[in-house]
Amino acid sequence: MRILIAEDSGPSRLLLERILADWGYQVVSCKDGACAWQELQKENAPRLAILDWMMPGYSGLEICRMLRQKSPEAYTYILLLTSKSQKEDLVEGMEAGADDYLTKPFDQHELRARLRAGIRILNLQAELLAAREEIRQQAMRDSLTGLWNRRSILEVLTRELVRGFRERTPVAALMMDLDHFKQINDTYGHLAGDAVLQEASRRLLNSVRTYDGVGRYGGEEFLIVLPGCDETSILHRAEAMRLAICESPVVAGDVTIPVTASFGAAVCPVNCQLESLALIALADEALYEAKRNGRNRVSFRGFSPAYSLPTGTSPTYSGATDVALSPANEPD
Ligand code: GH3
Ligand code: MG
Ligand code: MG
Ligand code: MG
Repeated sequence: MRILIAEDSGPSRLLLERILADWGYQVVSCKDGACAWQELQKENAPRLAILDWMMPGYSGLEICRMLRQKSPEAYTYILLLTSKSQKEDLVEGMEAGADDYLTKPFDQHELRARLRAGIRILNLQAELLAAREEIRQQAMRDSLTGLWNRRSILEVLTRELVRGFRERTPVAALMMDLDHFKQINDTYGHLAGDAVLQEASRRLLNSVRTYDGVGRYGGEEFLIVLPGCDETSILHRAEAMRLAICESPVVAGDVTIPVTASFGAAVCPVNCQLESLALIALADEALYEAKRNGRNRVSFRGFSPAYSLPTGTSPTYSGATDVALSPANEPD
């Protein structure tokens, strides 16, 4: 663990450095407040600081105030070093944001006890942050498949559409729906159905790039967001995903289950400002067409070339173009 010491008195600083090093801490040592403030701004700044109250540059108290005002995510525990004459000002020190204080000349046992208390608080805070992050992740993920849940994948799509418009790049959306999934449930049972959903999710994840978003949009329906994909590339990407889904049956316990999926693709072209739900509606129409045309295939729904919208206008688009890339050689 790294500890920052800021103390202008040479002998006192050297003593602290030596004691802390003996106890196994890594010490970052400063002779004045300016140096301490600089160190505390750094990305991996020490989380525990022992600050002398009176020193040139900034006083320990000023550093406390500045640090607490910034309120960065990672907490810095501050132990203020005070002289006997400052005892009556301690309330001010604590109000400035110090966590604890130690009166000079300090007793080593007391210093050790106070450091332990500080470290305990820092550990508790780290645990809290980790727990909060875990809850945040759980709220964003679908519990069965681990993919983004509906709300999160919609956020991903909205974000990418904004970025795509700004950076003049297309954004593609793919709706995927497992074929005759109800039959899979009816034939093999709901648990086997769940296993198919999990395996299909894995196969999807394995066939996208790291910056694509894959979410479970509803029951056996998935939304994939592919930034930077135009019409040609989305059709190839979707075809690769279709093959990945059906390439081998899913093994669930002692049964093997053939699985296919249908895909509906739509693209928000460069310079189009499009709402996420409008793009999804297009992908959805394409998906229904893939279903109508026999399933296990990719369909595309394109925009009319006249579609170049001022903000807030609702989209117009051309009729469906079933691109029929897929051989659709699996039985329905
Ligand atoms: P189509 O090819 O037209 O898409 O037919 P389908 O049978 O896949 O479509 P349908 O909408 O009739 O059935 C979807 C089924 O998915 C019905 C529902 O019980 C099942 N389902 C939805 N969520 C889950 C889930 O979490 N686990 C399991 N095992 N089944 C689910
Ligand atoms: Mg001093
Ligand atoms: Mg289905
Ligand atoms: Mg469905």
